[in-house]
Amino acid sequence: MTGRKKVLFDTESDPDRVPILSTAPLELKLAESLPDVCSEHGLPSIESRPFVVNSMGQPGSEIPTMRVFLGSIRLPWKPQENYGVQARLRFECPACEYCLAEVRRFQRIALLMLSAVVVTIGALVAAVLFGVEQLYVPLGFAAVPGCFPIALAVGVVAWMRSDYFADVWLTDSTEQLIVSAHPDFVTAVDRLRAESRD
Ligand SMILES: [Zn+2]
Repeated sequence: MTGRKKVLFDTESDPDRVPILSTAPLELKLAESLPDVCSEHGLPSIESRPFVVNSMGQPGSEIPTMRVFLGSIRLPWKPQENYGVQARLRFECPACEYCLAEVRRFQRIALLMLSAVVVTIGALVAAVLFGVEQLYVPLGFAAVPGCFPIALAVGVVAWMRSDYFADVWLTDSTEQLIVSAHPDFVTAVDRLRAESRD
């Protein structure tokens, strides 16, 4: 995508969410309000969706894909890398019509995959109950690897993807949120900031 700019927003600790445990991540909120424009498409927002960004000591704004998902699975015999979350920022992310259409599209895929799993397992159980032996083998293959893990993994990734619609991440110090945004979003932010200065 060309013409995208990075905009910085200051964060501050959220007084409503003071962590009780000292090991709990620091809860942050934005010190400045976002414009009513979506950062991905630069279009007027029609809804705000809750968005959570974790600081993980690594760039954390990758679009959930199968590769990222598989990479995030920790094998039990592998030493655990410490990507402990130190800070967590919650904010309301402006979403436009296109953003919401994307959300619904990926939710549909996730639901479709889940129902495929349910239907296959149901058919397998029925085949066993009614002793339809010709169906054991095809249904067995539909279940493994059809449902487990393929359909399930696709469903999980689609569900995670449905929650992703802004390219944002926290700076190392977690004092600022970086938004990789559409130029129209940048213009709207500049306008808001100019107004608040007056
Ligand atoms: Zn949008």
